[in-house]
Amino acid sequence: MNKNFDPASQIQDIQYFGEFGGVNPSITDSSTFTFLEAGRMEEVFEHEIEGCYLYSRHWNPMNKYLADALAKMEGTESAQVMGSGMGAITSVILQLCNSGDELVASHTIYGGTYAFLKNYLPKFNIKSNFVNITNLEAVEAAITPNTKMIYLEALSNPLLEVADLPKLSAIAKKHNVKLVVDNTFTPMVISPIKHGADIVVHSLTKFINGTSDAVGGCVCGSHEFINSLMDVNSGSAMLLGPVLDSMRSASMLKNLRSLHLRMMQHSKNAMKLAETFQKLGLKVKYPGLDNHPQYDLMKSLMNDAYGFSGMILIDAGSKEKAYKVMEGMQNNNVGYLAVSLGFYKTLFSSPGSSTSSEIPDEERDEMGMSEGLIRMSVGLDMDIERTGNIMIEQFRSAGVI
Ligand SMILES: *Cc1c(COP(=O)(O)O)cnc(C)c1O
Repeated sequence: MNKNFDPASQIQDIQYFGEFGGVNPSITDSSTFTFLEAGRMEEVFEHEIEGCYLYSRHWNPMNKYLADALAKMEGTESAQVMGSGMGAITSVILQLCNSGDELVASHTIYGGTYAFLKNYLPKFNIKSNFVNITNLEAVEAAITPNTKMIYLEALSNPLLEVADLPKLSAIAKKHNVKLVVDNTFTPMVISPIKHGADIVVHSLTKFINGTSDAVGGCVCGSHEFINSLMDVNSGSAMLLGPVLDSMRSASMLKNLRSLHLRMMQHSKNAMKLAETFQKLGLKVKYPGLDNHPQYDLMKSLMNDAYGFSGMILIDAGSKEKAYKVMEGMQNNNVGYLAVSLGFYKTLFSSPGSSTSSEIPDEERDEMGMSEGLIRMSVGLDMDIERTGNIMIEQFRSAGVI
């Protein structure tokens, strides 16, 4: 369907020059901006004026450069960058939902998002209805007259379920609610807007920045929506203030330029490991394996060239075995026992006791999140076969195979 949209070329085509003709845009190391005429300041305060900057929590040139590149990548009219993925997610939700409103959310989402929806939003009288996002009837049945949005992850954390974006978009349109997609696990791999999503959010901290040195987020959407987030009187991002520092946005923009190459390598390595592990009889889940429940859907959604992303899930059978395997892999230097994803080195963690620990035990059981799961963000290794062999030794010595 969207085989003609290529996120990497979109980014490559933007031309920015820095001062003195620099090949990178200049970093504006300023929190505030001067005006020659007092009347002009009033105008900028009241209306968004392209190219005019007032104060850096609102907009600053470097954040605008990075935001423009991310808007290109996702195919939206506009974007804004934020100080974290959670800053982006919470700003979007609080912008769209008022007291008394409801939202429908996938029950397999990032633990922090889950905790925000479940524990924090009730104090604003906003109700979240959690559903199995692969059950479209359940999604539609959870929508009430007060529902403002459907919230999900294109490839879910940590269970790697693939959301049927075209069908979910049709449901959202039918009920006049927004479809908000967290695309953190699949930048470039999936372009949710092309499949009918209204708003895309990312944690830049992960694949997009890719160097595990900084935290950031972004929101991609229409001009109207991004302007509403930044409105000086009523914008959640403007008023709650999750601003990204311009020094960081400069380094993230430079890292974004190699995202396509990194995604290709992460995906290639993840595919190789998933196939090897599966052949050995390990219980492995990866959207690029044909036994993944949404394998065909994934193939119909993904852009050419970037593969199935770099995340794989392995069930080691028990927490003890999972811990032993992870410690063994770290001791043998094939990766680090750490949360987060998208690093050059493989990162692994046990979702049940870390990134998804906010989700209560009963619900984890219900969604099939067993204790022995290992979530792996596969690294950029040149020789993945060698890495894989060392990993296999650890699965053997822990008694998983
Ligand atoms: C990490 C993550 C977030 C939160 O992002 P931060 O940058 O840590 O605030 C949100 N969604 C997903 C899928 C994530 O992996």
